[in-house]
Amino acid sequence: MESKDLFYKQQNIFETISEDEKKASDAYCEDYMAYLQVSKTEREAVREAIKLAEKEGFVEFKKGMSLKAGDKVYKNVYGKALYLAVIGKQPLVSGMNIAGAHVDSPRLDLKQLPVYEDSELALLKTHYYGGIRKYQWVATPLALHGTAVLADGSVIDVAIGEDDGEPKFVITDLLPHLARNQRKKSLDEAFTGEDLNVLIGSEFDNDAEKGEKVKTRILKILFEKYGIIEEDFLSAEFEIVPAAKVTDIGFDRSLIGGYGHDDRVCAFAELKAILEETAPEKTAFCILVDKEEVGSEGVSGMKSMAFEYFVSNLFEACGETKDLEECFANSFCISADVTAAYDPNFPDVFEKRNAAKANYGVGIAKFTGSGGKSGSNDASAEVVGKIRRMFRDYGVVWQMAELGKVDQGGGGTIAKIMANRNIPTIDAGVPVLSMHAPFEVVSKLDCYMTYKAMKALYAEK
Ligand code: MN
Ligand code: MN
Repeated sequence: MESKDLFYKQQNIFETISEDEKKASDAYCEDYMAYLQVSKTEREAVREAIKLAEKEGFVEFKKGMSLKAGDKVYKNVYGKALYLAVIGKQPLVSGMNIAGAHVDSPRLDLKQLPVYEDSELALLKTHYYGGIRKYQWVATPLALHGTAVLADGSVIDVAIGEDDGEPKFVITDLLPHLARNQRKKSLDEAFTGEDLNVLIGSEFDNDAEKGEKVKTRILKILFEKYGIIEEDFLSAEFEIVPAAKVTDIGFDRSLIGGYGHDDRVCAFAELKAILEETAPEKTAFCILVDKEEVGSEGVSGMKSMAFEYFVSNLFEACGETKDLEECFANSFCISADVTAAYDPNFPDVFEKRNAAKANYGVGIAKFTGSGGKSGSNDASAEVVGKIRRMFRDYGVVWQMAELGKVDQGGGGTIAKIMANRNIPTIDAGVPVLSMHAPFEVVSKLDCYMTYKAMKALYAEK
């Protein structure tokens, strides 16, 4: 063996990619960007995924259905999570190839009584969701998306601030001229959760009976346009999200900027891969799940029994004796979630030898967690070995991805939740710059390689 072959060399995809594959990558990313633009909330991400799935022949699963190899079904989990399956040639008991991504992203939720007036301006109180850096949400255009259940039980969906010509919203920031005290504070103290109040209007309603003329004007508009009264906010889920559009980044257009790459960039990779599946050997299973950013709790989160329930339903529909334990033990799962890309602006927090880099392919995180790998499933050598073989055979460019330096912080994904079900699981996803910011950046080639990784998974025998 030559000495150069003794070394492991990471590969920038640009060094080797063919013209044809570059074209395929650009085409794939165009589809992804279109998906991301209309998927700013978990509900929208699910709705859009269903639309795309139905176009490819997927049907909503109903109890009592009977299914055979090649059949394509989906299960809508409370409108906030989605499972898709293409039934394999082998029985379910021999296991499934599962890819799991999440479709919720960090944001500002409206409080249950959000509307108020202060100093003749109308504002909304918010409660942040997931890990945000609060200073990033001020002085930037915002949109309001969400769902309200009205007193008569009817449900309305709103999305305001996306289309050209629609009004947007903003959280005001302090002018530098008066920030002498604020700038001496730490970031955590300078920007608190209760400061993230969204400006929504200033016009008077002169017929208002009591003093709140601006709030009255806003409530009248809400009623006229959407049929909402203040009490309806109690049974609503409204989310404040960045109004920025998904766009190419860079003179060479090699990157994508947008809100919510974490984790819709992996969700779309899985989705696209399963939509193209026809007759897999093992059942292909795609999870788009909610609540990952807040610990995967609740009925629409990955800890939910909704997963077991649906797999049980599939056993019944396939005419197989239900054996979830055996099915899980024989399954394999990629927890498709983003990782941090090495950022030359912040070299101190990364360990360069083990950090993922943009354009080096899908990032495999053997473990997540923090401190001494606390809270991580830490995939086994055997599992990583399987990934190595799988990706090599399918031409997937990939890299190892450690989130940051030891003891710098940490994070978690749904990997451990799947692994706790006795499903061998590993994290794989797109490296992201500015992760969790209102505007995140990914490399197009990494997006494409993540999609290829999902295809490789579903092709596993
Ligand atoms: Mn994530
Ligand atoms: Mn995240």
